[in-house]
Amino acid sequence: MTTETTREQGQCLCGAVRFQAQIGAREIGACHCSMCRRWSGGVFLAVECEGVSFADEKALGVYSSSEWGERCFCTSCGSTLLWRSKDGAHTAVSVQAFENPSDFRLVSQIFIDEKPDCYSFTQATKNMTGAEFIAMVTSAEQKHD
Ligand SMILES: [Zn+2]
Ligand SMILES: [Zn+2]
Repeated sequence: MTTETTREQGQCLCGAVRFQAQIGAREIGACHCSMCRRWSGGVFLAVECEGVSFADEKALGVYSSSEWGERCFCTSCGSTLLWRSKDGAHTAVSVQAFENPSDFRLVSQIFIDEKPDCYSFTQATKNMTGAEFIAMVTSAEQKHD
C-alpha cells in the first residue's frame, strides 16, 4: 500500500517561522513524556514528516534536548514547531503548526506511563509505555527525546 505524499505549509504563531513539509500518512502520534509536555505546554501531537524546509531561519531556535534529538521553536513567539533526530532520519512536526489539524487522525500515544492523570484522550489508539517505545525504536535504530 502506498500513501500519497502531500507538501504543506506550516508556521508559528507570529509567522516569523514558516516552513514546508512533506506529509505521508496523515497520522498523529501523541507523546506524553515529561520533556514534550514541558516543551509544548500540553501534549506533543506529532506528525512524521520529510523534507522540511524553512523559508527563513532567522527566528528559528534549536534546543538540543538530548544526545540524539533537538527541538525547534520560534524565538520570537515561542511556538513549539518540531522535534528531529540529530542524524536527520526523523522529523516530528507539531500538527498545530499546520492549517487544518482536523485533516489528521490520532493513531498512537507513546510514553503513556508518563501521562498525568489530569487528562486523557478518548480515541482508541495504539498505546506504548516509554520502555516499550524505546525498545521498539532501538530495534529499528530510531530514537526519541
Ligand atoms: Zn513565531
Ligand atoms: Zn516526548
